[in-house]
Amino acid sequence: MSYRTVLLFGAPGAGKGTQGKILGTIPNFFHCACGDVFRSMTHDSPIGQIFMEYSSRGELVPDEPTVQLWGEFINASTKTGRFRPDQDTLVLDGIPRNEHQAEMLKETLKVVAIFYLKCTHVDELTERLQRRALKENRLDDANIDVIRTRLETYERESKPVLDYYGKKVLHPIDADQTPAKVLFDVLGRLVKV
Ligand code: ADP
Repeated sequence: MSYRTVLLFGAPGAGKGTQGKILGTIPNFFHCACGDVFRSMTHDSPIGQIFMEYSSRGELVPDEPTVQLWGEFINASTKTGRFRPDQDTLVLDGIPRNEHQAEMLKETLKVVAIFYLKCTHVDELTERLQRRALKENRLDDANIDVIRTRLETYERESKPVLDYYGKKVLHPIDADQTPAKVLFDVLGRLVKV
């Protein structure tokens, strides 16, 4: 089974989650944020502990448990009928997050578009993350050094995912705009893919 997929891509704080949540409310779109799947695990479960260990340092969780957990979430969502792969487009946020994950998911995902939320101001990203730390009680957003590591991890490990899928599916979106304007730009392109 190969899922028809659009990826939300961009630096931490670029607004992927905000857009993804909205897109997921549209009929025939199913939103899955990998970070949310991790955060739904209890802290004392083995995967919950691995997640805490890596995310608190601003690093990526190793690929095997990540892809396995994601697969279990998608299967469970399919069984309960929340995700209907024959009718729905999968809106993925936070996965694949490096080239190896993209390769691991090669047979599973049919990526028809990547919405690359481009944020030009690093200061703005950092501020958004710090505001979110307070609102959502996220440890990985609270510390400036962890934020820096996360932004570096994004540049070094995640950015190559764009080259992996190539220019044909790439849709750069100006993420410095208001959420409503970003949504407008994403939707304008989404209805055409
Ligand atoms: P953000 O979009 O702000 O980076 P996420 O909620 O997507 O935040 O991710 C939070 C943390 O969860 C990441 O820093 C990483 O440790 C872990 N994580 C989420 N998705 C993945 C993934 N696909 N592979 C590895 N680690 C991941």
